[in-house]
Amino acid sequence: MSETGKNQDVQPGRMEVITGPMFSGKSEELIRRLKRAQIARLRIASFKPEIDLRYQSDAISSHSAQTIQAVAVRDLDRLRALLFPALDTVDVVGIDEAQFFDELLVGLAMELVEAGKRVVLAGLDTTFAGEPFAPMPALMAIADEVVKLSAVCMVCGAPAIHTQRLGASQQLVMVGAAGMYEARCRACFRPEGDVPAAEQLKLPS
Ligand SMILES: [Zn+2]
Repeated sequence: MSETGKNQDVQPGRMEVITGPMFSGKSEELIRRLKRAQIARLRIASFKPEIDLRYQSDAISSHSAQTIQAVAVRDLDRLRALLFPALDTVDVVGIDEAQFFDELLVGLAMELVEAGKRVVLAGLDTTFAGEPFAPMPALMAIADEVVKLSAVCMVCGAPAIHTQRLGASQQLVMVGAAGMYEARCRACFRPEGDVPAAEQLKLPS
């Protein structure tokens, strides 16, 4: 180890951030990358916050029903306690719903990169109020690669960068709660909340 605390014998790894609104395929892209790593015989470890209760509790799931095994952890202390003792047996670390972890995720991700690991993080870039969703902005700034996906606006069909909250829920995010959120473009986004597109368009919902 050098005086800076970096191990000069280890080649640095790589940080990849996959971001965008809900329904933009972030989890799907994360799973695609992790499955490719598995095919290349790299050893992966995947984590997600316990708050993500949609579908299976021991997997990362996408809306298109792709899954990969993942450990649900209540916080970063738990993630660290599980991952770091086994770090020699891991090449790639995947983290889904990264926006639900606190700012310490930024330092933890850099530690992993400096230890030679490839880190792939997926998470929402903005809240339902359209504000940057920490710690994603900091992760995007220091990543080797950022993939910003768009969804499709459910009102007008344009590319959507926002997650629209439906109804009057004041909760920050209710993960995967069907019917609670829609993807919206800038023009159709209502940060104060909105009725579903189907009602606006008088479509059968
Ligand atoms: Zn629109």
